[in-house]
Amino acid sequence: MNIALIAHDKMKQDMVNFTTAYQYVLSEHHLYATGTTGSKIRKATGMDVHLFQSGPLGGDQQIGAMIANNEMDMVIFFRDPLTAQPHEPDISALMRLCDVYHIPLATNIAASEIFIRGLENGDFQWRDIVKQKKEKEKA
Ligand code: PGA
Repeated sequence: MNIALIAHDKMKQDMVNFTTAYQYVLSEHHLYATGTTGSKIRKATGMDVHLFQSGPLGGDQQIGAMIANNEMDMVIFFRDPLTAQPHEPDISALMRLCDVYHIPLATNIAASEIFIRGLENGDFQWRDIVKQKKEKEKA
């Protein structure tokens, strides 16, 4: 599965801890991240993470484009609910696209842990079915 990882500045250490703890699950998947978040994950875990632009420079929109192209299967987004973000419109757009395309979106660590359990159990395999169906429609 293609999984996007994003963390706002005050949540980055939580993301590093989270990805370190669940490396054994996440390393089975294709990981994508906004620039700074992804660099920190790479450095801490050594996992292969595709880096997009930093969030405020367009990284959230790049992930949104993957969602719109049916190429992203899950978004784990540690948002900072207590700090204003300069790129708030991009964040809203990303979350909106998750809703438009029914992409699982976790915006805090508690929900993200449930997603990890789901990944372990194969609960997200319906995404493969959706992708195959959409590919057939395109053909
Ligand atoms: P960053 O972007 O990982 O490049 O910091 C995340 C964000 O703030 O959207």
